Amino acid sequence: MKIYNTLSKTVEDFVPNEAGKVKMYTCGPTVYHFAHIGNLRTYIMEDVLEKFLRYEGYDVLRVMNITDVGHLTSDGDTGEDKMLKGAKREHKTVLEIADYYRKAFFDDCAKLGIKTPDVVEPATHCIPEFIKTISSLIDKGYAYLAEGNVYFDTSKVKDYNVLTGHSSDELMVGVRDDVTEDKNKRNKSDFVLWFTKSKFDDQELKWESPWGLGYPGWHIECSCISMKYCGEKLDIHCGGVDNIFPHHTNEIAQSEAYLGHKWCNYWFHVHHLNDETGKMSKSKGEFLTVSLLTEKGYDPLAYRFFCLLSHYRKPLTFSYSALDQAQATYDKLLKRIDALSREGEVDEKFVNECHEKFDVAVGNDLNTALGITALYDVLKANASDASKLAAIADMDKVLSLGLVRDVKEQSGEHELKDEIEKMIAERAEAKKAKNYALADEIRNKLSAMGVTLIDTKEGTTYTVK
Ligand code: AMP
Ligand code: ZN
Repeated sequence: MKIYNTLSKTVEDFVPNEAGKVKMYTCGPTVYHFAHIGNLRTYIMEDVLEKFLRYEGYDVLRVMNITDVGHLTSDGDTGEDKMLKGAKREHKTVLEIADYYRKAFFDDCAKLGIKTPDVVEPATHCIPEFIKTISSLIDKGYAYLAEGNVYFDTSKVKDYNVLTGHSSDELMVGVRDDVTEDKNKRNKSDFVLWFTKSKFDDQELKWESPWGLGYPGWHIECSCISMKYCGEKLDIHCGGVDNIFPHHTNEIAQSEAYLGHKWCNYWFHVHHLNDETGKMSKSKGEFLTVSLLTEKGYDPLAYRFFCLLSHYRKPLTFSYSALDQAQATYDKLLKRIDALSREGEVDEKFVNECHEKFDVAVGNDLNTALGITALYDVLKANASDASKLAAIADMDKVLSLGLVRDVKEQSGEHELKDEIEKMIAERAEAKKAKNYALADEIRNKLSAMGVTLIDTKEGTTYTVK
């Protein structure tokens, strides 16, 4: 496949270190709150990348961390630990918060058709690895101790800005809004590897280390967890574009200083999902989560479809009208596929040709929109229904849009829909006849079936859990 590499700023042929094998690392969520659908855009596109590599026959090892300590409210080294902030907000312990939001993250992922990576490692499980790597960086002269904290000395690496191509002074501006300068740093771009002193003395999780009781910085987590499972040579490292600086820039500096050679060959970055006022965030405007979309009656897979219709390297603007459009197109697509006969012979040659076309389309820098065009071409082709279904099922290994539903699933869904609509009509009748006890009883029965009613001026709609 061809893939854009942030490191070379060009689209390159993808060639892994070891023929047929891919080692892939993903920056995982900071589990202090629900993921918003912007975060999840990044995870959807990374999931497609992983599945596409498998589709091309690679044996993929995908590793992801869970950030449950060390990520401060500024991506620089200031502010409160996000986990602690979450714990205070909910009057819980950091570990309770981490546990709750880690589960919530994977629930959302499951609803969006995102596969769980082969390895998922919380940062708090790897403290000995962090200490070992930091000690080695100090021994090699790349890190220094100042006022209790251990810092990485960015002036010691040859090309600190290799990923961004910009001077770090220009880039620091983006992360410095609320930053008071840390006088202990030898260079502005130096970053903390291990904290024992921070303004926030109530940091809950701390560990013994050669530098005192403290906790790791965010950047060292990803380098160490990647090396723990993928070894010294990584093929692809993924994240959202906001990770390019300082997070991934710092990861490269410390990993290569530690290893003494090049670490990762391809850097894959997904552009942001914006709302109509700009970059989506958890604190600004409506907090858009998968649960909120479900409550509003959207299918999470329609959101995945919405993401796949645009290229991962372009910013994407979210609006409800755009999602309505995607939901309607997705529903129509499912109906067309449902209508194909499940019986008959499969023409393997046709299926292979479709596979090839899809491979070429998506293999062009993960062009999922072209992949979906290839899918519509299957529906239009002159082939048996069974062959079309087989070709669609093959493409859905990558798209994961739940495209081929078995007859039972379809008819079960139709029966359930009929039953719900019948009960809603009975409830409306009961309300008209002022029989509120019966109306409530029907609402409760529906609720027990996982159906939430939404009464509007135009009538009653519903969502199903
Ligand atoms: P976090 O949980 O804050 O560490 O972020 C998880 C992932 O979401 C990271 O890879 C970020 O780069 C990515 N991300 C953050 N905001 C957005 C956004 N608005 N759109 C797409 N990805 C994002
Ligand atoms: Zn990371």
